[in-house]
Amino acid sequence: MKYVGAHVSIGGGVENAPLNARAIGATAFAMFTKNQRQWHAKPLEARSIEAFQRNCREAGYDPRYILPHDSYLINLGHPEKEGLEKSRAAFLDEIQRCEQLGLRLLNFHPGSHLGKISESRSMTLIAESINIALDRTRMVTAVIENTAGQGTNVGHRFEHLAEIIDQVEDKSRVGVCLDSCHAYASGYDIKSEQGYLAAMDQFDRVVGFAYLKGMHLNDAKKDTGSRVDRHASLGQGTMGLDPFRWLMRDRRLDNIPLILETPDETLWAEEIALLKRLAAEAG
Ligand SMILES: [Zn+2]
Ligand SMILES: [Zn+2]
Repeated sequence: MKYVGAHVSIGGGVENAPLNARAIGATAFAMFTKNQRQWHAKPLEARSIEAFQRNCREAGYDPRYILPHDSYLINLGHPEKEGLEKSRAAFLDEIQRCEQLGLRLLNFHPGSHLGKISESRSMTLIAESINIALDRTRMVTAVIENTAGQGTNVGHRFEHLAEIIDQVEDKSRVGVCLDSCHAYASGYDIKSEQGYLAAMDQFDRVVGFAYLKGMHLNDAKKDTGSRVDRHASLGQGTMGLDPFRWLMRDRRLDNIPLILETPDETLWAEEIALLKRLAAEAG
């Protein structure tokens, strides 16, 4: 079964996320657990945690289909001590917030070398950062997102994801989230069916579908190989609708959260209905 949703707002409190997801017909959702543009946040209040869990229960959202996303400020592959330590502390806090909410996944962008260290060195730092955070927590799986390769971001090749995972000690608590726009922009040309199948085979060989814990479903504003991270609404970008038809048909994507991060949220309900239709057509 396919579980589809969008990255919904936590305006007014995290407890509103499941309500916002239900309002658009989502069967999965993503959310931040704090303001994503600030380093520090007030701890979650007990009544907010209770309300979140009650709302999830009432709307039928199992934690397996909720994919929280961490702050954009965090860089777990930061080349400098101060930036790295600040990022590691914030990442630990993010995992702990997920645990308090009873969530099981945390999706994050691997990091950036900022032109000061090699990609490999940055990836080793990212793996170390994950090891430190997993060592201090119990429940949450660290879910690395592939990137478009914009600027000095690592994680735009499947080989990068594998290189990080290789250096993570607890393989049972590390996974991957594939963003369709990022994959396409970074050079995996999934616009043709042949290209789609080739990219997915390559992913399976290099990383392995066992590690796939979620996907972001976004069309792209720029072409394949542009390495520009700009999302478009489904069917309105350079990828077109076909890749989403194949994705919704692909049984390897069953039973994981499939999340829209498309720019026009007034279209989310329609986009979710469309994806559900494409999944139903596949049987
Ligand atoms: Zn992301
Ligand atoms: Zn993106």
